[in-house]
Amino acid sequence: MTGVAFALPEEVTDVRDGVLRFVEAQVVPRIESSRALLDDQRLLYDERGRYSAEARELIREIRMLSAQAGFYTMCAPAEIGGGNLGHLAYYVAWEAIYHRLGGQGVIIPWVIAHWAFGPSRLLTQATAEARKRCLADMMTGRTSMCFGLSEPGAGSDASMIKTRAVKTGTGWKISGRKLWTTNAPTAEWCIVFAITDTEKAARKAGGISAFLVPTDTKGFVVESVVRLFGHAGGHEGAVVLENVEVEPWQLVGEIDQGFKIALYGVSLGRVYNSARAVGQGRWALEMAIDYAKQREAFGAKIAEYQGISFPLAEAATELHAAHLMGLNAAMLLDRGEKALKELSMAKFYSVQAGFRAVDRAIQTHGGMGLTNELGLVHAWQDLRIVNIADGTNEILARMISQRLLAGDLDL
Ligand SMILES: Cc1cc2nc3c(=O)[nH]c(=O)nc-3n(C[C@H](O)[C@H](O)[C@H](O)COP(=O)(O)OP(=O)(O)OC[C@H]3O[C@@H](n4cnc5c(N)ncnc54)[C@H](O)[C@@H]3O)c2cc1C
Repeated sequence: MTGVAFALPEEVTDVRDGVLRFVEAQVVPRIESSRALLDDQRLLYDERGRYSAEARELIREIRMLSAQAGFYTMCAPAEIGGGNLGHLAYYVAWEAIYHRLGGQGVIIPWVIAHWAFGPSRLLTQATAEARKRCLADMMTGRTSMCFGLSEPGAGSDASMIKTRAVKTGTGWKISGRKLWTTNAPTAEWCIVFAITDTEKAARKAGGISAFLVPTDTKGFVVESVVRLFGHAGGHEGAVVLENVEVEPWQLVGEIDQGFKIALYGVSLGRVYNSARAVGQGRWALEMAIDYAKQREAFGAKIAEYQGISFPLAEAATELHAAHLMGLNAAMLLDRGEKALKELSMAKFYSVQAGFRAVDRAIQTHGGMGLTNELGLVHAWQDLRIVNIADGTNEILARMISQRLLAGDLDL
């Protein structure tokens, strides 16, 4: 059964079904056998607050198994050796993965190549030499990367970055600070955004370039991790770059045009986060429905009380709308359209609808909803984050309103 009236291409549904079989055969058993690790922050993080060696090994194992099964790079572009499946497949696969696995946020982002951590379209702009050095290991899932754009003084307005790449005889020396760089504590490579032309950057006319930097380069230091929600550790790094030497092969895309790459990455991230919000929301909603049909209070199943069932109906309605928006935005992107308004709307709406659905599922479960065991709180935290990360709700509303005011009134 499906609630969607139009048929998805068979190659997309085949891929989704294949990924789900892989998840069932390889990922679910590993999550089950790693419960102690995943549920206990003392095991999940090391003394510096980074993922422990055991956690990193589990993540790498999942990436590599997915690559061996042919799923990891299925949506990466053909230019870098991927399966080139496009945005719709990317959306549908991620939605299905999150729908099945829900709150297991440490593991899920690694099941197929994530736009910022794995081989993605960002690397099509890397030089032949850079690809020679990084791609083979990244395509097999052995290594990963991270995306270093945001800084302590530059978030929504990324043009405010201060990191500078100063020309030397043979290349550049990069100095500055990055904040919120997800996966920096673990990644082997980082795409670092830095100002290469201060005058152009000040005029907001380019002047920012992207460089692919091995994280073990002298001067590249993950100073600390950012801890969220009272956790004992984290996966976002605060990075210091001090005279990090880079050569021309490390330039990603054209000099002074790094922003185009940043925006392309962010747009893939919005497809991913729309899918994730719908998938996690559906997972939570189904748990809430199951629970409401079993749990009794005042002589009846709680599902019989409209105070329980109507909010679930509302959550389902919102998730359905969000899912249609996500599918639609991905299909527009596959047609070669920018879909700035539609993709912004999809992410803006989905992350809020997904968050509300998970919150409602927690409420339906009463105290049980708050336990680590059910994982609802993990999904709740994930979705709270994506109301801020990868374009805050306000920045997306800004984009939507700019498009409307420019006359783009097609809905
Ligand atoms: C968990 C997590 C992971 C992240 N991972 C990465 C990563 O891997 N790489 C990376 O580069 N970055 C990453 N980020 C950074 C993320 O992109 C920024 O947090 C985001 O862009 C918002 O920037 P900010 O936090 O500095 O908030 P600010 O930009 O300071 O915004 C503060 C508030 O002002 C609002 N605001 C700003 N401008 C306007 C406006 N014009 N109109 C109305 N309201 C406005 C914002 O919506 C927000 O509510 C991550 C963030 C988080 C939380």
